[in-house]
Amino acid sequence: MAPLIGVLALQGDFQAHGSVLRGLGATVREVRVPGDLDGLDGLVLPGGESTTMTLGVEREGLAGPLRELAARGGVGGIPILGSCAGLIMLDREHLGIMDILANRNAFGRQLRSFEADLNVKGLEGEPLRGVFIRAPWIAEHGPGVEILAEVDGHAVAARQGRVVAVAFHTELGQDDRVHRLFLADVAASGGGDSVETG
Ligand code: GLN
Repeated sequence: MAPLIGVLALQGDFQAHGSVLRGLGATVREVRVPGDLDGLDGLVLPGGESTTMTLGVEREGLAGPLRELAARGGVGGIPILGSCAGLIMLDREHLGIMDILANRNAFGRQLRSFEADLNVKGLEGEPLRGVFIRAPWIAEHGPGVEILAEVDGHAVAARQGRVVAVAFHTELGQDDRVHRLFLADVAASGGGDSVETG
């Protein structure tokens, strides 16, 4: 059975994530209220604007349910992928799902948007072309966090259990390997048939 992936759809480029995921065979549900989280096998927090997204999460009462979802099922909970603003949403000062501290708009004014070839741990083959749009980097991280990629010595991708955060946009461009990695996590955690709901 196709895994059911939720994409937080309060703000940002959730539609682009939806089409990549559908292209890879997942069933996609846009998440706007807590009830939309029921029965998900995985969740994507898209890029956008983290202040607006945070206000939306608070307005809809989603913060608690999102944290519960991350914790459900033991170590790491259900797989979550956060991209750009989604990385910020996962950090200690926002949802607190990952033991990281994001530095917003970290690359500075003149470098607001750029692309870089990244060697990402866990991805085979050629470097991944990362699209950075007013991107954050990971300024601090705890011992349970593995850094997966860096740009100029700054951490731009990390994993903690089943939660992966990337500072770049994985949903733009041709390379869908980060989404594939996420869906592999979903499959490995039983997504598609045996996900616990309690
Ligand atoms: N700069 C945005 C923020 O701080 C993130 C940018 C993005 O998601 N592309 O929320």
